[in-house]
Amino acid sequence: MLTEESRIMVIGAHASDYCSRCGGTLALYGKKNGKAKILLVSHGERGESPSLWKERPGITEEEIRKIRWEEALGAAEILGAEIVALDFGDNPLLFDRERLLILTREIRLFGPDTVLTHWTTDPYNPDHETVGKAVLNACHYATVPGVEPEVSCLPAHPRVFFFEPDVLATPLSKFDPDVYIDVTEVWEIKMEALRQFETQRYLVDYHTMYGEYRGFHARSLGNLPDCQYAEPFRRCQPYAGRYLV
Ligand SMILES: [Zn+2]
Repeated sequence: MLTEESRIMVIGAHASDYCSRCGGTLALYGKKNGKAKILLVSHGERGESPSLWKERPGITEEEIRKIRWEEALGAAEILGAEIVALDFGDNPLLFDRERLLILTREIRLFGPDTVLTHWTTDPYNPDHETVGKAVLNACHYATVPGVEPEVSCLPAHPRVFFFEPDVLATPLSKFDPDVYIDVTEVWEIKMEALRQFETQRYLVDYHTMYGEYRGFHARSLGNLPDCQYAEPFRRCQPYAGRYLV
């Protein structure tokens, strides 16, 4: 149930991951006045900025980080979400103890009830796998009182939903969604946000196709007959309740 008290945190490995994979869901939170925060673990300056490396010979990683940050910031504003960059570097993106504790503190300080992040099997993108696994670890540590005791720990493990890895890599990633969110009403907002990522101009076409493909799935499930665009997720934890949903 989405309410004004809902707090969603999206943790993505690179600059545009949050927008391409769950920008519509974030926009829905913005429209309904839920609180949304994005964590960029890196800017994707090495591995997800090939057009800048090709078109601007001599460009530095620092210059690319600035460009990618401006893009990510612009898109986050359109979606109505706060955004913070951890700037851990990418390709390879690695977590040691200190970085894991930084991530744990960020989760505690925001206090999300819901966390969206990468599916933990993504052979074509090891940074995504690394972040997905680190987020699961950090969500656990965020509930352990003796870890970083100067920051209040969470009362319960947040609900974690994995967003879709590269659709074309599904035979390898085995991503099998069990949640579809109808984002038709905010689709143009998502597209406007995606257009901010000038470095990855292909994202708009790719994710229009993927959104339509998952929208078709959502319609075929029976209770979303008007759904044109959907974003798929996989629940990490099983549902427990008094009713079948
Ligand atoms: Zn990425």
